Amino acid sequence: MAKKQKFDTVAIHAGQAFDPTTGAVIPPIYQTSTYVQESIGNLRGGYEYSRGGNPTRNSLETLLAALEGGKHGLSFASGLAAEDTLLRALLKPGDHIVLGNDVYGGTHRLIERVHGSSGVRNTTVDLSDLRAVEKAIIADETKILWIETPSNPLMKISDIAELADIGHRAGVVVVVDNTFASPALQNPLSLGADVVVHSTTKYLGGHSDVLGGALIINDDELAEKVTFLQFAVGPVSAPLDAWLTVRGIKTLAVRMDRHCSNAQAIAEFLDAHAAVDTVYYPGLPSHPGHELAKQQMSGFGGMISLSFKGGSKAARKFCEATRLFQLAESLGGVESLVNYPAEMTHASVRGTDLEVADNIVRLSVGIEDVADLIADLESALPRK
Ligand SMILES: *Cc1c(COP(=O)(O)O)cnc(C)c1O
Repeated sequence: MAKKQKFDTVAIHAGQAFDPTTGAVIPPIYQTSTYVQESIGNLRGGYEYSRGGNPTRNSLETLLAALEGGKHGLSFASGLAAEDTLLRALLKPGDHIVLGNDVYGGTHRLIERVHGSSGVRNTTVDLSDLRAVEKAIIADETKILWIETPSNPLMKISDIAELADIGHRAGVVVVVDNTFASPALQNPLSLGADVVVHSTTKYLGGHSDVLGGALIINDDELAEKVTFLQFAVGPVSAPLDAWLTVRGIKTLAVRMDRHCSNAQAIAEFLDAHAAVDTVYYPGLPSHPGHELAKQQMSGFGGMISLSFKGGSKAARKFCEATRLFQLAESLGGVESLVNYPAEMTHASVRGTDLEVADNIVRLSVGIEDVADLIADLESALPRK
């Protein structure tokens, strides 16, 4: 048997065989809604209608499964569409879910306001407090433990292997949102998780030009349920979007290297600046999750948050003063972005215990020249 290929090779080749009719190195975009049948019900290659299957989407799904070392990959129109489909597959009214108290705001909104209105209950908990997680799980009622690490925006690191053990002892499905790390830096299935969720809008797509989401699942029965819902409800990714995501993934490994090295240099620069109170970056030895991140990740990622000594006024001023770091939601693209969580990404959790302090700023560090990035930050920071 051929030697198992390494991540950087898989990212370029899994599911991407050249086109057999023309030899085109890049598989074409199958921009079609339907497929001609040989005779009634006699399909060519199993394709009937693109909500049920499309070769471009399938090539992305094969690639996603390979990147996470999972059996089944499924691709969706957005990260939240992927999450919603998984929640539908696992929960019924009255069920309970335990999630981190700093999960992505949109995940909390989906669970609390959409699934909550059909009778799903949730408890938010500090995932780094393993005892608190055990206590939050209700026997026979809790069906899912939802983990996000590194978390957003404070980059808290939680122990996937320990949490998976706790979840499995209680018979719950352990889900990890791996968007912030990307599969280049962390593979939750290998640490014991049951399902990996991605917003492929972020690092996987990597160029801020496409929305998408993914689920990677090992269990055949759960994968079958999710595949049925993907077809029956229809939150699928469009062919062009799937193609763009594949295109982005080919450079994921090299992009992540640069995201990590740029972010490390920037975190160290900010940490030494007098106007900055705390820098939240797992690559700093002072970060409480540093040692754990070293074990469970192969790099510390491109996301940094910082708090300002000058409170919300200083934070807001900074966000509007950077030039290379553009003020926008989202993350994981080649270009650097700055975000004010309290009023942007985390506005939906204001007034809840997921609220983000108003002196916090989040940076998505891109892959530009690091000296230019640091010069931009320096010019936007208060002089003393
Ligand atoms: C953006 C994001 C999502 C939601 O994904 P969309 O593609 O925007 O629907 C979920 N989880 C995390 C961690 C995210 O950053």
